[in-house]
Amino acid sequence: MPADSTLIVAVEEKEESPFQSLVERSKHEDFIRRAVDLLVERVVFGRSSRNAKVVEWATPSEIKTAIDLKPRDNPVSHDELLAIIADVARYSVNTGHPYFVNQLFSSVDPYGLIGQWLTDALNPSVYTYEVAPVFTLMEEEVLREMRSIVGWPEGEGDGIFSPGGSIANGYAISCARYYFYPEVKNKGVYAVPKLVLFTSELAHYSTKKLTTFMGIGGDNCILVKTTENGKMDVEDLETKINEAIEDGATPFLVTATSGTTVYGAFDPLVEISALCKKYNLWLHVDAAWGGGALMSRKHRHLLAGIEMADSVTWNPHKLLAAPQQCSTFLIRHKNILKDGHSSEAKYLFQKDKFYDTSYDTGDKHIQCGRRADVLKFWFMWKAKGSEGFEKHIDRLFDNAQFFVDHIRQREGFRLVIDNPECTNIMFWYVPTCLRGRENDPDYKERLHKVAPKIKERMIKEGSMMVTYQPQGNLINFFRIVFQNSALDHKDMIYFANEFERLGKDIVV
Ligand SMILES: *Cc1c(COP(=O)(O)O)cnc(C)c1O
Repeated sequence: MPADSTLIVAVEEKEESPFQSLVERSKHEDFIRRAVDLLVERVVFGRSSRNAKVVEWATPSEIKTAIDLKPRDNPVSHDELLAIIADVARYSVNTGHPYFVNQLFSSVDPYGLIGQWLTDALNPSVYTYEVAPVFTLMEEEVLREMRSIVGWPEGEGDGIFSPGGSIANGYAISCARYYFYPEVKNKGVYAVPKLVLFTSELAHYSTKKLTTFMGIGGDNCILVKTTENGKMDVEDLETKINEAIEDGATPFLVTATSGTTVYGAFDPLVEISALCKKYNLWLHVDAAWGGGALMSRKHRHLLAGIEMADSVTWNPHKLLAAPQQCSTFLIRHKNILKDGHSSEAKYLFQKDKFYDTSYDTGDKHIQCGRRADVLKFWFMWKAKGSEGFEKHIDRLFDNAQFFVDHIRQREGFRLVIDNPECTNIMFWYVPTCLRGRENDPDYKERLHKVAPKIKERMIKEGSMMVTYQPQGNLINFFRIVFQNSALDHKDMIYFANEFERLGKDIVV
């Protein structure tokens, strides 16, 4: 049966013949039901059991052979489409698998998934109340709650769902600049002094990237040194602020990080905010990764001082395990987002509508059409309550601590940071051939080659997925990320055993 018509065409074209329209409906209904069954079987459950593979490694040419990627002139049948779904799933990385610990996101939350599917079935675009009434109100409510968790006074502030933490960090630059120099909106960078901002050398690369994107220039994103735990060095921050001023530049923003991407370090927000006060700078906290810890009474101290921030990036799709993509930008100042970004398109944001147009919130975004990323997160929140999120976070930190304690006393493992603060853990695995050779002149060079070799083996076997990277002058080390609270202590031991199995006999 060719998939030649969309549902709406089916209904409209066949209106004269009710029988035909029933045929069309049953055809599409049958396809959707079979596809959903397949998704539930093959994608959601079939692939997330511990003995399934995390990845079925295939080369580009193998994938090109397995899946006919080229769009064709002729339609394919429903049966073929179902086979295609199965193949796409088969060769895709199984990010819902418990042993996918490669990235700062993973797992499939059942409520998040259904929230996402509901979003897709409703297919809204959140720019006006008229088109997205429920989602407009839902966004305001969820963002209000998140601001209250950050610790800002009730009734203050604003926020948006943003297409990723990178863009949210860009909003911080834009809002801070507009706050100090509103003329920048129409006159541009030509009307303002030479601006500089500060973030740490271990901060996410997006701050520098967005500095470039916004015409401030990447060189004017000044990287502050970090201490040996990976936290921003506050003394160096003050030195660099003064150097910039002496150079004739105008500092306006510090972006601190709560949970750095590689080290999981939390910058000292109380000290940094004191400097921001002293020099009249906007304080943005990039809590894209670590923000979820605010949900836990036990761990929120890691972000102590965040309530002094002017703005915050917080990605529920990271520690809180909402499906991709779910990211927020929160701001303590009420009208900056709107005043700084609105362009009042008359075809969309008509001011003479019959309802209260303050609910048409789309104009504070830089996007026009926009997915309702709020729904899946809100739905998860309903399903678990804040208590559920707290338990989730406490479990992640408990697993991470268990893993650190376990590998600390196990032969072959060396921690990069002795006491990691978040749930991403960095370590080297030292194969037998290098043990006791720490003082050899070529030790580092050889150890550097170990991680890529172990990675190749794990991917080809599909037994787990853990990322590695060099950083600064550190040679390749692994970074394992715990963000899935379905894991337990036994899984932590599995990971360590698996490193030993794959890595012990490697010769470099
Ligand atoms: C992941 C991350 C980002 C970027 O978020 P995206 O949603 O991937 O764009 C920004 N900052 C930190 C600290 C991150 O870990």
